[in-house]
Amino acid sequence: MKKCLCALLCVCLLACTALLGGCGSTSQNKRLSVVTTMFPIYDWLRQITGTDNHTIEITLLDSSVDPHGYQPTAEDIVRIGQCDLFVFFGGTSDAWARELLAKTDNTGRMHIALLDALGPAVLPEETAQGMQTDPDENTDEPDEHVWLSLRLAQQMCRRIADALGELDPIERTAYNANAELYLARLRALDSRFIAALDDAPQHTILVADRFPFLYLARDYDLTYYAAFSGCSTESQASFQTIDFLAKKADALGLHAILQLEGADGKLAQTIRDAAKTVDPLILTMDSMQSAASADMQNDASYLAIMEQNLQTLQTALSS
Ligand SMILES: [Zn+2]
Repeated sequence: MKKCLCALLCVCLLACTALLGGCGSTSQNKRLSVVTTMFPIYDWLRQITGTDNHTIEITLLDSSVDPHGYQPTAEDIVRIGQCDLFVFFGGTSDAWARELLAKTDNTGRMHIALLDALGPAVLPEETAQGMQTDPDENTDEPDEHVWLSLRLAQQMCRRIADALGELDPIERTAYNANAELYLARLRALDSRFIAALDDAPQHTILVADRFPFLYLARDYDLTYYAAFSGCSTESQASFQTIDFLAKKADALGLHAILQLEGADGKLAQTIRDAAKTVDPLILTMDSMQSAASADMQNDASYLAIMEQNLQTLQTALSS
């Protein structure tokens, strides 16, 4: 019996030593972990750290659901609690993150709310003419859809690159170099938007959906009409809304009605049917808020989606 105990202790000691040794070596090579809430940030992190980077692990919390109704799971809370850097927008959709951080001990972890980093560049949410208002919605809130501006994307990427450099000083030069290359690509696409939309015969877009494109519309001087505001929880359009939008399509001779990724097309079709003098196409713009983009998170990229959005806009604004 004594012998047995001794053997057990020995095994235990050996296991403990191995474990401690193991711990020591992993802490030396510990991968830094970065957690984020939405696809655009995930892609920016990936571009700035470099896709072949093995020292940083980037986790995108489950974005297969509409972010507007998102509630973090117990697993998400643990992931955020254990990560080294947490990046989120801090608008309506991931407001839960602010509440979570306010309740947790944040020592040893950096976090960035990108809306705060953008400061005065953040616009208040707008209610355009004809837009159906949502009685429950707080109208006095910042418009969170900052990622749909290629210009604000540049500012946010700089902020992210700075944070990564602070977190991982050995790789700082590499992160800055990656960021510079990526910023150049963002600027180039912005120039293509300017050139294409300046020349377009039409400068008004009509969105049979929520309207997350305020920043994009501002960047390229587009006028817009839409069924609902950016973060509206409303999804049933009233007769007045449909009638207003159909008459706008007629009056402006619009070539297309836009909707968001994941839309079932019914509202766009109803407006199209109600229009009397035009027969608009129904085209989809990807606002990167739901499964359509997140499902393909490994193949999709922010730039490719924005480029696709440019092509869609060019078609919509053609004569
Ligand atoms: Zn929103």
